[in-house]
Amino acid sequence: SAALALLGPAPGAPSCPHGPALLFVKTSQGKEEGRRFYACSACRDRKDCSFFQWEDEKVSETKLAAREEYNRNHQPSLTHRQNVDRYKNFVLLPLSKRRFCQECQQLLLPAEWEKHMDHRFLCGITTAQLKSPSQLLYPLENKKTNAQYLFADRSCHFLLNLLRDLGFKRVLCVGTPRLHEMIQSKASQEEEFSVRSLLLDIDFRYSQFYTEDEFCHYNMFNHHFFGGEVARESCRKFLYEENGERVIMVTDPPFGGLVEALASSFKKLMAMWRETKKEGHDNKEMPMFWIFPYFFESRILDFFPSFTMMDYQVDYDNHALYKHGKTGRKQSPVRIFTNLTPSMIVLPEEEGYRFCTVCQRYVSSCNQHCEICNSCTSKDGRRWKHCVLCKKCVKPSWFHCNKCNCCTLQKHSCEKTDVGCFVCGKAGHKRSACPSLSHT
Ligand code: SAH
Ligand code: ZN
Ligand code: ZN
Ligand code: ZN
Ligand code: ZN
Repeated sequence: SAALALLGPAPGAPSCPHGPALLFVKTSQGKEEGRRFYACSACRDRKDCSFFQWEDEKVSETKLAAREEYNRNHQPSLTHRQNVDRYKNFVLLPLSKRRFCQECQQLLLPAEWEKHMDHRFLCGITTAQLKSPSQLLYPLENKKTNAQYLFADRSCHFLLNLLRDLGFKRVLCVGTPRLHEMIQSKASQEEEFSVRSLLLDIDFRYSQFYTEDEFCHYNMFNHHFFGGEVARESCRKFLYEENGERVIMVTDPPFGGLVEALASSFKKLMAMWRETKKEGHDNKEMPMFWIFPYFFESRILDFFPSFTMMDYQVDYDNHALYKHGKTGRKQSPVRIFTNLTPSMIVLPEEEGYRFCTVCQRYVSSCNQHCEICNSCTSKDGRRWKHCVLCKKCVKPSWFHCNKCNCCTLQKHSCEKTDVGCFVCGKAGHKRSACPSLSHT
């Protein structure tokens, strides 16, 4: 059997339409070293981006030129600037002339109506609709590429209130269009609301609704700004904490194994923040919320040892599993990882969180403080039990297997594989059998 490993962003990597490709290695069992190749950073499905190149492949001048042309041709047909100008014209139209093409996912100007005649379209687009593009646009649910899972209202409100209570005035929204939209629309409606935000996202449809100071077309798997140096500069400007306005970054990336690529990009954003101040930031890290499933905890801590996982369960609107159903609440596996002091992250008591004075953080009500571990050990919101043999707390459904010498599901095969799982990093199973993903 073969496994795929990410070696990360490599200097001098060739580019696909989504910016510099990432270096991977395919290893087959028994073989020492696998062959390395470049593949698209953003699309894990070859159908979405077919870019492929062996690391040691000699690429001819002709092929390089063709590739460059291909990359150019596979950029959006309208520039961000053009979309901003179109928006200005669109809002001048009377309600009766405001159309949105659902098939092309585009605001239409009257001169374009004819071209979209046989497409499904919406009429009478209101200002309120323009202020919530995440409701107007359909969520891209392609699991391997975009995986757009939008925050449920209550999670989005919780996040925004938390950020405000913590005193942040600027929010860098990386792949969080709904949070961005909530901030933007409050800022335009409430005078005393002084939080500002910048959205970085690969979904270019958003450029129809936001200016260059509000949105950058960005790939978080390779830290690529599609708008080049100009876009990079507007991000830098946003990170500069004018008048002591503190910045926090909030990100909710699609999950699926490229943690190291994300971490590498986030470190570059942190460096960008640090460089905006000559003195002052020194050893500090840019405050960050990384929203991700709890089973990635050890992977995230590998890259960001200063982070702590919060117990808060983030809910989504359009995710069958991760939203609370009508009949009581489904448990979402998605959590907030942060480098802020855990005790400052106040979780709502009315949603069943309590403060553990020993751990100095808010935890799920079922998360019991274990006297032996001296910590509130549950990761999934259920009550965990302590195993004296493993010397740690484990899931309630696990049993200690004397053959494997560890706790695991009762139903398991006792043979182990020695390579770590690509998803959770733990030994004992392959990616396809990762218990973390089995319920997604
Ligand atoms: N819960 C968030 C949305 C998270 S879904 C909210 O409600 O605001 C993941 C987001 O990341 C989507 O907006 C998607 O367009 C974006 N995304 C997916 N791949 C990306 C990439 N390679 N670079 C940047 N953003 C990406
Ligand atoms: Zn690509
Ligand atoms: Zn505790
Ligand atoms: Zn314990
Ligand atoms: Zn055990």
